[in-house]
Parts: sequence; structure tokens; C-alpha cells
Amino acid sequence: MSRARLILLNAALGPLDYRVPHGMAVEPGSIVVAPLGPRQLVGVVWEPERLPAEEVGDNRLRPLVHAYDLPPLGAPLRRLIEWTADYYLSPLGAVLRMALPSSGALDGARSITEYRATGHVPERLTPQRAQALERIGERLGLIRELAIVGGVSDGVIRGLVKTGAIEAVEIALDDPFPLPDPDHDPPALEPAQAQTAAELRAAVEAGDFAPYLLDGVTGSGKTEVYFEAIAQAIRSGRQALVLLPEIALTEPFLKRFAARFGTEPVPWHSGLRQAQRRRAWRAIASGEARVVVGARSALFLPYPRLGLIVVDEAHEASFKQEEGVQYHARDVAVMRAKLEQVPVVLASATPAIESRHMAEIGIYKELRLPDRYGGARMPDMAALDMLQDPPPRGRWLAPRLVQALEENLEAGEQSLLFLNRRGYAPLTLCRHCGYRFQCPNCTAWMVEHRFTHRLACHHCGHVMPAPRACPECKEEDSLVACGPGVERIADEVHALLPEARTIIVTSDTIWSPAKAAEFVARMENGEIDIVIGTQLVTKGYHFPNLTLVGVVDADLGLAGGDLRAAERSFQQIRQVSGRAGRGERHGRVLVQTHDPGARVIQALVGGDAEGFYAAETDARREAAMPPFGRLAAIIISSEDQAEANATARMIGRAAPRVDNMAVFGPAPAPLAMLRGRHRFRLLVHAARAVPVQDVIREWLGALSWRNSVRVSVDVDPYSFL
Ligand SMILES: [Zn+2]
Ligand SMILES: [Zn+2]
Repeated sequence: MSRARLILLNAALGPLDYRVPHGMAVEPGSIVVAPLGPRQLVGVVWEPERLPAEEVGDNRLRPLVHAYDLPPLGAPLRRLIEWTADYYLSPLGAVLRMALPSSGALDGARSITEYRATGHVPERLTPQRAQALERIGERLGLIRELAIVGGVSDGVIRGLVKTGAIEAVEIALDDPFPLPDPDHDPPALEPAQAQTAAELRAAVEAGDFAPYLLDGVTGSGKTEVYFEAIAQAIRSGRQALVLLPEIALTEPFLKRFAARFGTEPVPWHSGLRQAQRRRAWRAIASGEARVVVGARSALFLPYPRLGLIVVDEAHEASFKQEEGVQYHARDVAVMRAKLEQVPVVLASATPAIESRHMAEIGIYKELRLPDRYGGARMPDMAALDMLQDPPPRGRWLAPRLVQALEENLEAGEQSLLFLNRRGYAPLTLCRHCGYRFQCPNCTAWMVEHRFTHRLACHHCGHVMPAPRACPECKEEDSLVACGPGVERIADEVHALLPEARTIIVTSDTIWSPAKAAEFVARMENGEIDIVIGTQLVTKGYHFPNLTLVGVVDADLGLAGGDLRAAERSFQQIRQVSGRAGRGERHGRVLVQTHDPGARVIQALVGGDAEGFYAAETDARREAAMPPFGRLAAIIISSEDQAEANATARMIGRAAPRVDNMAVFGPAPAPLAMLRGRHRFRLLVHAARAVPVQDVIREWLGALSWRNSVRVSVDVDPYSFL
């Protein structure tokens, strides 16, 4: 009789054995359905020798229910899932879930019923119906998806279907994706680009593991270069994967790709409708989707013929997933490339210190693109000392920056003001009694969003209407906003330059690829004079008429003081500076700071990236911080503070004594309360040679705590909150 060992899509379960019924053929990687108690779960067949499980006699095994008619997950992907679970101390089932779509996509159905508005207005137009129809517009989707878009219940949408205002349409699900043409419109590359492109093409052709750091200032043409490697992958009949840090960047990427290859690549991100996800997943699994561009979750999809991985803007912290499996997509991408035996390109204008170090010790090969493409020069940078030349009281833009904005407006050129803070003001307090609005669930101030008349917590999403009176002393109109957010800067711009046409670009306003496309179109059509944005505008966009960048508060990123604060500030300001002067006109960047002598500011203004990196790297080496040492955070949380504290101390007391390893804490985490849970943190700091994961696994594995306590381990943490 034949048996199969499975990993089921349930993080709480270990591997389980099943009987393979007569007539069903499975192999490692096969996607199957198995019974579990009264339920049925999707799972994947695994090599039994790789996963120890409790031995169960043949006579006690339950039979598999079904095997899907899909290609099995390949061995390299299975090894990647094992590695990720092991390295990030996560359950196999939780990692496996990232490789599989929802079960609907596994079935063979070839069409799906979706719905769309017909344009017919129902006789009884309730406010809810009107709102739903307005928000749905020309969108297509399942009843549930349209209900979410419309902000109404499923019932309202069903009612609209009955009146004929919304109609059902059959959508064919498995239409093939058009094949990108590697020879559609190849660009004329400059010599440095051509040489780099040739090297990458050869690497794709060779089909071996080869990690590259593609380092070039913004505007140096990195994308054109790695497009040539993608072209080679297509010619060789292989698949290519491009990871981007933000879904907002997907839309401009799709356009650029289509211009080069004649058709768009297959996108993969959280903004896809269920039907789109299903079609993309099946095309990826069959090998038919040749080039996939996606957010970090695209990394675990079952590409059967992967030939190349590109991680664009590879220094971005958003490649680190902070919930569930806390993996870093850049690092996992390198591991996948190694297991698949393919090249991987980490592209960045401001590579992370970790990546530069790997290049320095010869593990990554560094490819440098020195000049701006087309001979455009880097922008001029200057620091504005906010103590010497401060803005008037209650304003945030220094006179010189305002003057530069005016000049740009008169010249008909576009400007960008960068402030990495959403909303109107980061803190609201009562001037009468000093009351401060704090989130009831988190150790965080409520941020005023003036356009929506609400206060919001940026950590848990808690919102409340902005009150007129102080909740403490009941004084009316006593609330004052402290400090600026982008909305407040926009107000200041309106007051100073009323004729300027502005747009605020944050995750509150650009929350879908469609919104991003709209923003790009308005910029390109010259409908906007001044962009006021958060880190969302620092990368990817290319606006030739944008010639002035103002950094509103260069000191902001340094306030957190964590390991990467200076590096992150440097990267962010370099990136945003790279938006200026990407066309024929020369760009300039004005950086507002209270500390013009700070190393970061000096390096930025002096254009001394090398000096900055060298000093930062030395400091990390001296403190044995990553990449020269290792960190892991253990976060203990509970709704009950005493319980969280007691558990954290119990775990701390049990810390093993290991050479070259120190355990700090427990201490209340900087975000001591998050989403109603009290949080304590232990920080493990060890030399590179210490097998930190094994140590932690053994340490925590010997302990137990109540179900109401959550203990999560963050290996190589990025957020120190
Ligand atoms: Zn008050
Ligand atoms: Zn909160």
C-alpha cells in the first residue's frame, strides 16, 4: 500500500501521513486534499525522509480525498519552504500558504461569474445604492469585492443586480497571457550599460547561481540593463521574476515593460481581484507566465522554469515582512536563486550596508553604473540651517525653500516636498489643560487627518472623529496641532502660493495601482505644480519636468535612533533627491535640518556616499552589529500586562548561556502597547558563528506559556518597535 506524508495548510499542524487510494498518483510536490477530523484541508506531498512525523500504522491511515490536476511544486521551491521555515522559526504550513492560492484557484473551472454596473439607474436610488454605484464605477468583481469597493453590504449589491443596475458577466479565467517579445523595442544602451547588460545576459544563459549587486545612481539606467537580462530569460524559454517594494510602483513598471517588450508582464500583488489572482497563479504554475512582477509575496510562487530573479530598490525596508512569517524578501530571493541555480540581481541606487558588505567580501558581484543615463547631471544639493534661517512661527518651510518653489512655479517646472509623515499633525493637544490624544490600543499619539476630519492611529488603524471640545477639560476650540504632516505642509503651500496646483501623495491617497497611474498621468500632463509626499514618492517615478526637491525635515528619520536610522535617512533623502532633474533641465535639492553638521547631512550635501558608507560600516563592525553580528528579537505580548511581563521574565530567566551571545531584556518594547496588547521584548545579540535559530528553538521549545500570551521571534529584525 502506498502512503504519503503531507504538509497541510494549517500552521498549527506538523506533518501527517495519509493513505494514497488506489488509482490516485501523487509524488513529492503534488497538491492534494486530505481529511482532518470532519474537515478537508489542502496540503502538499513531501519527501517523508525530510520531515520526521509520528509513525502511524497503515491500518490507521485515512485516505487522501483528491489530487489536483496541477504541476507539483518543484524540489527547489520545497527546499526554499523548508529553509524559510527553519531560518525564520516559522511553521512549515504558514510558509507553504504563501506558495498556494486560495483553493478556488486550484479547481479546474474555466470561467467565473463577475459583476459590473450597466449604467442603468434603479428607480429606487437609496443613498447606499448611489454610493455603491458611484464608487464601483466601471470596476468588475465578485459580489463581495464590489461590496467592499462600494462600502456597502453584499445585500445592497444583490439588490442592484435585481434592478438591473448591475449585471452578471461570465469571465473566461484561463485566457493565455500574451508572450513578451524580447526583440520588440530594445533600447540603444550607452557603453557602460551595454557591458553590464552583456554580463547579465551571459549569466542568464549559463543558468548558474550568481548574485549581483547592480549599483547605480538614480537615473543611471538600471532598469534598461536588467530588462536585457529578462529578454535573455525569455529567449531561453525561462521565467523571470521582478520584485518591487510597493504595489504603487507596479503601474509605472508595467508601462515601461510594455514599451520594451510589447506587452505587460503578469502582475502579482494584494490589489488583484480573486479572478486575476487565480489566472496569474495558474499561468505561473504552468510556466506560461514568462515575466512576473510583484510584491514580496510573488517570491514563493511555483515557477517551474525560473531563469532570473530581480529585486528592484533592493535596499527598501518594505521587503521585510513584519507579520506572520517575518521574512526578508531580499534575502529569501537570494536563497531561492541559489536553490534554483539561477542569477539574482539586487538593483539599488543606495544599496544596504548588508548588500555592500557581501560585495566587498566577494560573495556578490558588484556591477556599477556610474553616470546618469543620457548625460543628465546629479542635482545640486544644499542644506538649509533651520536655526540660522528659520521659517516664521507656525510655518515649516524656510524662506529660501519658499523662494525656490516660487521660482520653479514661475518657470513652469514641477517641485516635490518630501516629509515622511502622513496626516496633518503628529500630535494633537489641548492648550488649556495639556491633554494629549493617545490611541486607546497603542503607545502612540493619534494623528490628525484634517481632510477627513478624523484622528487616526497609524499603528492599529483606530480612528475617531476630531472632537470640537477637549475630552478632559471640556474647553471648546482648545485643541492645537503640534508639528507638521504632509497635509499641514499642503496648507502652508496653499497659503503662500495660492495659484500652485498641488497633490498629496501618501498611502492615504495613492492606495491602488490605478490611483498611482492617475497620479503619474496628471504629473505627465503638467496638471500639478507641487507634489507633497511621504516615502511613497521617493522611488520609481520619473518626471522629467520635476526640478526641485525640498526635504522638509531631514532630522526626522534619525529620531528613532535604531541600528539603521542614519542609513535609512541617507537612502531616503538620496532616493528622493534622485527625483530631481531627471530630464534635460538641471535639478536642485534643498534639505532642511537643525543639524547641518551631522554626518548624514554632510555626506548628502557633499555627495560623499562612499565616506558615509565607510563610516557607518566601521561603526557596525565595531559594535558587532549586522552584517558583522546577528540580532533576533523575541516579542512577548498579551492583553494582560502582568501576564506578558511575567512570561517575558520567565523566558528571560531561562536564557541559555552561549559563548559570544548576549540576551538583553526583557524590557517594554518601544511600542509598549500595540492593538490592545502589551508588549515586552528580549533582544538576542550574537556573533555570526552562533547558530542563533537553533539556540532560540531549543530555548523556547523547553518552555510553555498560556494561550493568551503570544511569543514571536523576529530573526534579523528591521523594526525595533
Ligand atoms: Zn483640555
Ligand atoms: Zn493604535
